[in-house]
Amino acid sequence: MSTLSYVDESPSSPWATYLAQVDRVVPYLGPLARWAETLKRCKRALIVDVPIELDDGSVAHFEGFRVQHNLSRGPGKGGVRYHPDVTLEEVMALAAWMSIKNAAVNLPYGGAKGGIRVEPKKLSTKELERLTRRYTSEIGIIIGPQQDIPAPDVNTNAQIMAWMMDTYSMNVGATATGVVTGKPIHLGGSLGRVKATGRGVFVTGREAARRINLNLQGARVAVQGFGNVGSSAAELFHGSGAKIVAAQDHTGTIANPHGLDMATLMPHVRETGGVAGFAGAESMDNEAFWDVECDILIPAALESQIDAARARRIKARLVLEGANGPTLPVGDDVLGDRGILVVPDVICNAGGVTVSYFEWVQDFSSFFWTEDEINLRLDKIMVGALRRIWDTADQHKISLRTATFAVACERILMARQERGLYP
Ligand code: NAD
Repeated sequence: MSTLSYVDESPSSPWATYLAQVDRVVPYLGPLARWAETLKRCKRALIVDVPIELDDGSVAHFEGFRVQHNLSRGPGKGGVRYHPDVTLEEVMALAAWMSIKNAAVNLPYGGAKGGIRVEPKKLSTKELERLTRRYTSEIGIIIGPQQDIPAPDVNTNAQIMAWMMDTYSMNVGATATGVVTGKPIHLGGSLGRVKATGRGVFVTGREAARRINLNLQGARVAVQGFGNVGSSAAELFHGSGAKIVAAQDHTGTIANPHGLDMATLMPHVRETGGVAGFAGAESMDNEAFWDVECDILIPAALESQIDAARARRIKARLVLEGANGPTLPVGDDVLGDRGILVVPDVICNAGGVTVSYFEWVQDFSSFFWTEDEINLRLDKIMVGALRRIWDTADQHKISLRTATFAVACERILMARQERGLYP
């Protein structure tokens, strides 16, 4: 449990999940364990009021957050989420997982995350732009190309990054492309960024499947969350011969044991905003998603989805965490006991931040790479990082999650120790 006075979390909150994950890694940190408390605190948390004028002339206020969890290894890096359930505690957990993720793939970043408590689907495009610009101005005191670099997350995209980049640039009086990643291509964005997180899920999934002798050809895949991450991962698995047998999003759940036709499902989702009503599948009760017969399950929506009860029902051999924090520690234990392999979020969905790093590097050098170069480098980094984590898991006989935390926390705390405490 937290020792922070401003945190009042329930045992199933994302921050409590993160703390439990840190507690599990402490025995493997050796002498660095004396610094472990560092991981249980956020360096900096900014809460901002975001007032905007709505199209009808009224004024609305929204709560905004930017949290920098740990900056020992470099500038903060992490997405910005627009969602009605965003809280400070959630953003703290997401920022902390970014610290772990960035260190796990050895990117020269600390961890950060931001969010606004808002239902963006209820705002017009102009209102969304005003919201984004005011939020960016408010957090402008702590972000910057060398301080903290936001990126897209749930309900944010390249257009929102363009507004953030423009607002920050107007405030500092110079075009600062490196202040955000996930931008449109002609504004310094990187080829391959949009699908990078899903590609990373696929690459780690492909490697994990190979290790457990699961053939992707004909493998049955169920995906929760059919947005950027879930749909990109689904397309790549489908392209490797797997069948997408079920998909769930905020509009409903659909299933087809013979496989969903991705060529018609993707336009349906784009045009209607969700999977519901897709003609080539049966719709089913949302809770029945967890009973679907499948080989691979990809939670790619929100946190805290797999509790102990759902973990007991899952039929898959392999769980690939596209979302951040989808599995509660109790769910993790049940999956482990049942011999279901979990590739944890902190490595599984690291493809997005890896290509964000490529984008940031390309912006600084003003020299842009081809999509093939980006995808090849991404593949190599993800495979190398996963191999190191797997070796650590084998050495200590621990889960891939605890092994990822062990590799990452060692890097973070070594940096902390070498830098020393100021003053
Ligand atoms: P997105 O907004 O593109 O998609 C989110 C999806 O989740 C949508 O399909 C939505 O309908 C679905 N969803 C929302 N509430 C749901 C519910 N209650 N039940 C089922 N489905 C629901 O967001 P995204 O970028 O794909 O992010 C998804 C997850 O991946 C998040 O946990 C995010 O933090 C994580 N992630 C994203 C990136 C990235 O680069 N975008 C990187 C790493 C991790």
